[in-house]
Amino acid sequence: MDKIQMKTPLVEMDGDEMTRILWQMIKDKLLLPFVDLKTEYYDLGLKNRDATDDAVTVQAAEAIKKYGVGVKCATITPNAQRVEEYNLKKMWKSPNGTIRAILDGTVFRAPVLVDGIHPTVSTWEKPITLARHAYGDIYKNTEMKAPAGSKAELCVTTADGKETRALIHDFVGDGVIMGMHNTDDSIRGFAKACFRFALDTKQDLWFSTKDTISKTYDHHFKDIFNELYETEFREEFEKAGITYFYTLIDDAVARVIRSKGGFIWACKNYDGDVMSDMVATAFGSLAMMTSVLVSPDGKYEYEAAHGTVTRHYYRHLKGEETSTNSVATIFAWSGALRKRGEMDSLPQLVAFADRLEKATIQTIETGIMTKDLYGLSTLEEKKAVNSEEFLDAIAERL
Ligand code: NAP
Ligand code: MG
Repeated sequence: MDKIQMKTPLVEMDGDEMTRILWQMIKDKLLLPFVDLKTEYYDLGLKNRDATDDAVTVQAAEAIKKYGVGVKCATITPNAQRVEEYNLKKMWKSPNGTIRAILDGTVFRAPVLVDGIHPTVSTWEKPITLARHAYGDIYKNTEMKAPAGSKAELCVTTADGKETRALIHDFVGDGVIMGMHNTDDSIRGFAKACFRFALDTKQDLWFSTKDTISKTYDHHFKDIFNELYETEFREEFEKAGITYFYTLIDDAVARVIRSKGGFIWACKNYDGDVMSDMVATAFGSLAMMTSVLVSPDGKYEYEAAHGTVTRHYYRHLKGEETSTNSVATIFAWSGALRKRGEMDSLPQLVAFADRLEKATIQTIETGIMTKDLYGLSTLEEKKAVNSEEFLDAIAERL
């Protein structure tokens, strides 16, 4: 059989622990037999990040900028315990944070749905994609305590030294205050990534804030989305037969719960943080959540939403059997290959990505699954298999 050819390399970012083991198995069993895989390889495993003073993470992000599509394995974000365990020179920053800062992206998360595993919300038939703005607001805030009798004000000093003040509160008793910000550039980048992703995936886009209460701050988000939609995206949306609609977050929450799914829900940073956890949990499992970072200029980085599954890795090191779910990592690869195929006009590569996803879903739907899903599945005939057997079953079907 002739292997499917590629034109441009994918930026491949290897990672840590159990997901690093799965990474190699996925390549060996599901990709290399079928695709003449072209990748530019970056080892983001913690050892190599330490050896290169984390330069490898920056190089990988620069490579995504150059080529347009990357696929990333889960990586350890070091804490004090990891510094000791790996004898690190430094407590290196989160690779995802570094890559996000360089690409200036928005994170889109969507669940993989399979028969036999039912969302807690019974009306959800299709995935809900959560788009979270990843800059500013409460995550970059300044806060203080305000003692009784104090007066708190907002003060903006312009470049020419002019001050504008607004009263926050005259405190009779003790209290607290908080200042936060966002920038038009960042909000615009977020909006563009959302509009583009909606067009890419042919799904409606919902955006919600609390603009009735926050008449300047949240309203500004709404205005920027609206302006971009009218000036740059309306025509393309109409051509694609999809809609953009803005609604108050209270209304969005109610509509989401009553919906059938199948749309993108864009949220401000805090709303997205909380709502993505809620949506992921209600869909069943973190091991079934896909994640893609999209930059405003259309660069894509695909990954799994979960971590390196440390507990399973320690079992693996002791020679014990593991049953680790590789679905989100497989979908990171299929997502990246499909995008590469679309960008390079390679319909065979796009079709392969579709078949890989279908084979994965069908394997689970015929009752072969890892232990985490076995516990959730309502199928009558089901079998829990180990990490490798699961991949072998997909390979056979593929
Ligand atoms: P985790 O790796 O997501 O695992 C948490 C638990 O969830 C696991 O112990 C396992 O439960 C279950 N689980 C997660 N993914 C699974 C899968 N694919 N198959 C089966 N079960 C799965 O999170 P963590 O333990 O908090 O973090 C471990 C390391 O990952 C940390 O060093 C952290 O820095 C890193 N991390 C990286 C990323 C990323 O690169 N994007 C994201 C989050 C965390 P059971 O043990 O009960 O089976
Ligand atoms: Mg959270």
